[in-house]
Amino acid sequence: MSQAQPISISLPQFTHELRAQATAGAPPAREEGPFAKPEGRVLSTLNPDGSRRWLQPKVSPGTHWQRRRIVAWILIVVFAAIPWLRINGEPPILLDIMTRRFVILGGIFRPTDTLLLALLMISLFVGIFLLTALFGRVWCGWACPQTVYMEFVYRPIERFFLGKAYGNAKASVAGWRRVAMYAVFLVVSAHLANTFLAYFVGTDRLVEWTFGSPFQHPTAFITFAFVTGLMMFDFCFYREQLCTLVCPYGRFQSVLLDRDSIIVGYDKVRGEPRMKRKPKDADERVALDDRRSDCVDCTLCVQTCPTGIDIRDGLQLECIHCAQCIDACDAVMTKLGRPTGLIRYSSQNRLERTPRKRFRLRVIVYPTILALAISAFLAILLTRKDAMVVQLRAEGTPYTVAADGGVTNLLRVRVDNRTSDVRTYSIVGVDGTQLREPVTLDVQPHSNAVATLHILSQPSDFSNGRRSVALRVADGKSYDETQSFSIIGPFANGKK
Ligand code: SF4
Ligand code: SF4
Repeated sequence: MSQAQPISISLPQFTHELRAQATAGAPPAREEGPFAKPEGRVLSTLNPDGSRRWLQPKVSPGTHWQRRRIVAWILIVVFAAIPWLRINGEPPILLDIMTRRFVILGGIFRPTDTLLLALLMISLFVGIFLLTALFGRVWCGWACPQTVYMEFVYRPIERFFLGKAYGNAKASVAGWRRVAMYAVFLVVSAHLANTFLAYFVGTDRLVEWTFGSPFQHPTAFITFAFVTGLMMFDFCFYREQLCTLVCPYGRFQSVLLDRDSIIVGYDKVRGEPRMKRKPKDADERVALDDRRSDCVDCTLCVQTCPTGIDIRDGLQLECIHCAQCIDACDAVMTKLGRPTGLIRYSSQNRLERTPRKRFRLRVIVYPTILALAISAFLAILLTRKDAMVVQLRAEGTPYTVAADGGVTNLLRVRVDNRTSDVRTYSIVGVDGTQLREPVTLDVQPHSNAVATLHILSQPSDFSNGRRSVALRVADGKSYDETQSFSIIGPFANGKK
């Protein structure tokens, strides 16, 4: 990108022009109602009278914006491509809730892998905590799908169709332009809904649903229509309010950040007091020359903010650290021939010229927990057996006693096949456990099946109404394990 050269400009004239631009799109003030006015703005997306403040932020195409746009388009392509890619015949990520099967980077997990899934979630959350402690809300500004699609897909479409009416509520726009804009929004939202659903149902089922009649798959059709509607609602109407009012991550910001975390911040030491007018007289000129502040109060940083806040008010939970205000302010500083970086990536301590803390507990604790969780996850994953056998709750009478005194128990076991092949499991009794007949069970890949076993015992085998039995389950390939199960039977004195 070519570096803009400092130019000579009259400061009051420059500031006046920018402030005029800032107020050009403001909605007309409403008549005052019966309620007391709040002292300041309650929400960045509300006007003082409680009406929605529609934000149409200006683009500030500086260095950060250019980089964010590249990152955003890479992420958009990756997000759309992931459901179509295959690792060992499976997509890299599939969260199939209907069949309760979760695929993550080649690993296939089922709800029975509770510990693994829990460790994965812990790693994810602690990873986010660590990222936030180090780099602030870098996820929100650079990688969150809400920001990526809003700023680099929906807003450019909006700017294209609204033309000069973008950001100017007083300007009118032809009806066909609005219709065309919403038609394009609908197509993009439908694509997004499809991509989003592909992560939950897989592309094979999605293609089948897409080309099938809605009457054949009414649930799928309703789900698709609902998700498309949700996307339209979010990106066309709700917009930045998702970040400022709904997303819990922003709310946690104050506990996840410390004063040395990287944030987007305004340098008050350099910027204050703001200077937006000509010095009144020669004395003031001399005084201002002695301590010339850099903020010219042009409000461009506010006009470009997608959440409508003024970064000069300090760190706010609405700030998604998108760096738009950095680009806007850097362009102003460059025009005025002053050093850039009045708004910049920094930390609260550095902005206030306070020494950095040498010891930051959270950047020690978070990586430690993360390392432990990942190590435990890998250890369990790598030592995980190719099958899992669990005892299920018995149905009906747990045992029967024949006329000759023989006891027969019904034992139900579920065999989870964790491999990618069909496996045939043989189940036999060992260590004195006798089955009425041997059992074999065919189980599909990454699926499970239930076997009902008849276990034969004598009353004397039971102690206090309980007996431990041992079963050997083997698939003739990689799984061969003996497990003990507890069954109930008659008490030695004949009590049930
Ligand atoms: S911080 Fe920069 S962009 Fe914001 S009002 Fe001051 S000079 Fe303008
Ligand atoms: S204050 Fe700056 S970094 Fe924060 S959301 Fe607004 S433009 Fe983005």
